Amino acid sequence: MERNFDRFEVNPPGATGAVAAGWPPITKTGRHAPVAPNLLDYETSRATFSWEAARAELDGLPGGRGLNIAHEAVDRHATGARASRLALRCLAKAGVTRDFTYAELRDLTNRFANVLAQLGIGKGDRVYALAPRLPELYLAALGTLKHRAVFCPLFSAFGPEPIRTRLALGDARVLLTTTGLYQRKIAPLRAMLPALEHVLLIASDGAPVAVEGTHDLRQLMAVASDRYQIGPTDPEDPALLHFTSGTTGTPKGALHVHQAVVAHHITGKLALDLHPGDVFWCTADPGWVTGTSYGIIAPLTNGITTITDEADFDLERWYGIVQQQRVTVWYTAPTAIRMMMKAGAAAARGYDLSSLRFLASVGEPLNPEAVVWGEEAFGLPFHDNWWQTETGGIMIANFPAMDIRPGSMGRPLPGIDAVIARRSDSAVEIIAEPNVEGELALRVGWPSMFRAYWGERERYDRCFSDGYYFTGDLARRDADGYFWFIGRADDLIQTSGHLVGPFEIESVLLEHPAVAEAAVIGKPDPVIHEVVKAFVALKDGFVESEALRRELLGLGRSRLGAVIAPKEIDFLPDLPRTRSGKIMRRLLKARELGLPEGDISTLEQTAPPQEAP
Ligand code: ATP
Ligand code: MG
Repeated sequence: MERNFDRFEVNPPGATGAVAAGWPPITKTGRHAPVAPNLLDYETSRATFSWEAARAELDGLPGGRGLNIAHEAVDRHATGARASRLALRCLAKAGVTRDFTYAELRDLTNRFANVLAQLGIGKGDRVYALAPRLPELYLAALGTLKHRAVFCPLFSAFGPEPIRTRLALGDARVLLTTTGLYQRKIAPLRAMLPALEHVLLIASDGAPVAVEGTHDLRQLMAVASDRYQIGPTDPEDPALLHFTSGTTGTPKGALHVHQAVVAHHITGKLALDLHPGDVFWCTADPGWVTGTSYGIIAPLTNGITTITDEADFDLERWYGIVQQQRVTVWYTAPTAIRMMMKAGAAAARGYDLSSLRFLASVGEPLNPEAVVWGEEAFGLPFHDNWWQTETGGIMIANFPAMDIRPGSMGRPLPGIDAVIARRSDSAVEIIAEPNVEGELALRVGWPSMFRAYWGERERYDRCFSDGYYFTGDLARRDADGYFWFIGRADDLIQTSGHLVGPFEIESVLLEHPAVAEAAVIGKPDPVIHEVVKAFVALKDGFVESEALRRELLGLGRSRLGAVIAPKEIDFLPDLPRTRSGKIMRRLLKARELGLPEGDISTLEQTAPPQEAP
C-alpha cells in the first residue's frame, strides 16, 4: 500500500497524548506466577531462538513422513500415560458437556478422516464447516487435517450470500453443518454450488438425519474405522483456508500450510505461556483464525486441556466458566473485555477466579485502560498481542517476563523480524530511527505465513516487497523495541497537516467514565483535509446530552491538543463491528458521508438472530 507520509507531519510520540504518557509500565507479571514463564528473558530468548529448534519440539510423522498438524496436536499425545489426559472439553449452550481425552480424540478424528476417505475426498480438497461450536466441528477440523484435505471453517451466523461466495471461492467439496443451518441457509443455494458434492449433517436432537442430498455424520462415523494412518505430509502441503474479518473490505481467503504448526506451538508456549496442566480457554470461534490457531491447535500441540463454549458472550456465564473449569490461561478480545468493563470490576468479585494465571487479548488495539482494568478485576493485567489471519499466529506480544507498557502490542516473537517501513513503487525504506510512524512489515520466512490469497494471486503479490510482508497496519517502535499500533493504513486520518491514527484518540475518550466504546474517523474537509469525528457508545446508566458532548470534546482538547482532538462527537447505542468483534470504521465513514456501505458480509447485527442448531 502506498502512502505519502512526506506531505504530512507525523506527530512526535507522546506529544499528543494519551497512549504513551500517563500509564506507568506494569512490571513483569510472570514474577508472581506459580510457575516460571516459558520465556524467561526476552533478549536471551531472541538471541538463541531458531525455527529449527522450535520445529524440534514437535515429533514429525513416524518414519520421517513429514509434518502434519493433527499428528502434532493429537496423535503424538495419545500414547502412554498422556493418552488419558483431558484434551478437549466442549461446553454446550444447554445440555451436556462433552469431554475427550487425547486417546478419544485420536480415535474420533481417525473416524472422521476415514469418512472423508470413503466419500472419495482427496488430498488438497476443501472441506468446509458451517457449524456452531459443537464437538463435531473440532473433530472435523482435526480429521480433515489428518486426511490432508484443506479445512475451511465459516462462522455459522453468516447469511446465505457470504456463505455462497466463500463456498464458491474455495470450490468446497464437502460441507459439515447442522440440519437447521442446512435447511435455512444451504439448501436454497445448493443448485448454485456444483462443486459441493457432500453435505454432512450434525443432527440436533439425536434423531437420525433424513434430509435429501445429505449424509448423517453420526451414521458415517459409527461405521468408519477408528484406525487411520496419516499419509506423508509435506510441511508445505495446504492445510487451512481462513477468511479475514472483512474490517477493511471484502474478506480474503488466506491459505496456510501444515508447517504453520511450528508457529502455533511455539507461540502458544512463549506468548501464551502454556504449561503442562494448564486449562486454556480461547473464546474465539474457529470461523476466525484465532479460534483455530489457538482455539484448537496450539493448546493441543502443547498437550494441555482446551475449553470450548458453544454459547456467545454472556458475562455471568463467562465468569462462571472460568470459576468452574479452573481456567488458568484465558485468551479473549478487546470487545469482550470492554463488555466486562461496562459491567464493572465488582461483577467479577462474586466469582472465584483465582485459577487464572495469564490473560491475553488479540484482535483490536487494547486500550491502556483495559490492560490496567484486568488488574482491578482479576488481579492480572491483560497481555495484548498482535497478529493477522495472514500471519497465522502471534507475531508481537507482551510476554509475562517482560514489563507491559499499557497501550503497546509488545515486542516481536523471537524468530520474528518486525520493522517499521515505508514503501513506494520503486523502493522500500526500513526506518531504523525509533518512534517514527510507518507500515508494520515482517521479514518473510516464518512457518505460519500465508501462502496465498485464494484465487487472488496479484493481491497476494502486492503484499510483498524486498523480502518483507507488508501488513497494512501502521505502527511505531519505541527505543526499547516495543511496538505501538497507530491504526490500519485505511483508517488513518489526515488533518491540518498531521497524520493521526484513530486508536490514540479513541483511547483518550475511553478514559471518560461514561464512555464504553469509541470509534474515530476522518471526515473530508476543504480546509484541513479531514476533520476528526468520533462516535461514542455510553456505558449503562449514562445518557447522552449536550453537556456530555462538550465534556468529551474538552477532554479530547486537553489530552490531545486542539489540532487532532475530535471536533465532532455523535452518540450511538452501539458501534458497528465485525463478527470477530472489530469496529468497522469504514462503515461509520460510509454512513456519515452517505456512500455505499460496501461489503458488510461480516457485520455483526446488534441483536444477533438466535441460531437453531
Ligand atoms: P480485513 O483484512 O478483511 O480487513 P481484518 O484485518 O480485521 O480484516 P483479521 O486478520 O481478523 O482481519 O485481523 C487482523 C487485524 O486486526 C490486524 O491487521 C490489525 O489491524 C488488527 N489487530 C489484531 N490484533 C491487534 C492488536 N493487538 N492491536 C491492534 N490491532 C490489532
Ligand atoms: Mg486484514
